Amino acid sequence: MKKINTKLVQSGKHTHAPEGIDFRTINPPIYKGSTVLFDDYESYSETMLRSELHGTSYGTYGTPTQIAFEEAMAEIEGGFKTRAFISGLNAIDMTLLAFLKAGDHILVCENVYGPGAAFCRKVLPKYQIESTFIPAAVGSSIEKYIKQNTRLILLESPGSDTFELQDIPAITTIAKQKNILTVLDNTWATPLYFKPFDKGIDVSIHSVTKYISGHSDVLMGTATVTEKHYDQFHSFYETLELFASSETCYLALRGLRTLGVRLKHHEQSALEIANWLNEQDQVETVLHPALTGHPQHEIWERDYLGSSGVFGFILKTDYSINDLGRFFDGLNVFEIGLSWGGYKSLIKAGVIKGRENVSPYNNRTVFRLSIGFEDSKDLIDDLENGFSKLIS
Ligand SMILES: *Cc1c(COP(=O)(O)O)cnc(C)c1O
Repeated sequence: MKKINTKLVQSGKHTHAPEGIDFRTINPPIYKGSTVLFDDYESYSETMLRSELHGTSYGTYGTPTQIAFEEAMAEIEGGFKTRAFISGLNAIDMTLLAFLKAGDHILVCENVYGPGAAFCRKVLPKYQIESTFIPAAVGSSIEKYIKQNTRLILLESPGSDTFELQDIPAITTIAKQKNILTVLDNTWATPLYFKPFDKGIDVSIHSVTKYISGHSDVLMGTATVTEKHYDQFHSFYETLELFASSETCYLALRGLRTLGVRLKHHEQSALEIANWLNEQDQVETVLHPALTGHPQHEIWERDYLGSSGVFGFILKTDYSINDLGRFFDGLNVFEIGLSWGGYKSLIKAGVIKGRENVSPYNNRTVFRLSIGFEDSKDLIDDLENGFSKLIS
């Protein structure tokens, strides 16, 4: 069995040569087309009879560029099939709709991506699907939230903004006994640092927008499913004519090839900065799963193969918006921005609000850093400079 970095380079088929032309490139062409031509009447009628139209009959059923990316992704993540979506949020929302029906109940971890939680709160009730928001660091205690009509559990570990981890093996064991589908947003760990299907997850979702594309210029999502759930999922995907554009699939595949080396740098630099923050007087907590002080550090050590470059911290004082302005505007390496996972280091801060369960982060100001490829010494100096503005 080949190691992951070799797989990242080799995954997917490499037949990127137009027939009859002796010209082979490493990356696939960006196929653009609505119309797909058939060689003759027989191939036309055969294609139309087939239930699987993927990549064979019309642009909306996926181009060869999309298929090349999807095949590589499925192989890297170790799932049966991957399908691409126009964004990470779209992958979450459409996956929920693909598997749910009126009368179902779902459990949603309270730290999932905010707009995904909003979809559960605002849109699913229109289809008589009820959501219960459960604690972010849930494990086997999930059992007490399960109802007779619970069909699906939506997880994100570590979760957006506050970085709590769920005990995924404990949850999937219970879910399997009760025939409940488990869906994990695996964006933080990427397919490299957490292996969802080895831990019993049924559907793994990524915001490809983040580390997989890696250069802050792509919006895309994926959902990868097990064989057992493929038919239901695929039928929904194809019926709705969901797809991702060839350009973005091309960039996503190109990003996937270098994910291993990029992630190593993100990881090491983020750890250096997290450790430095941990020693600063004004810092109360650093929210980084690989640090021994993290509340679910043992779960991270047991289940994860590494840590990526996004983490949070809380200051001892929750400063006012005006005071925070002095800090943010005193930075000149970090930029203020939301969508993480690129080569540029980003920072943001926000007050955690609206959680229904007890959480140490309720109403606290949490900073989030996405560590890019600038020298870590410059990033630390930048934060130090920002802190000095905050205090004076
Ligand atoms: C950004 C993000 C998403 C949404 O992805 P988009 O491509 O921006 O829609 C979903 N989940 C997590 C954890 C994210 O960070």
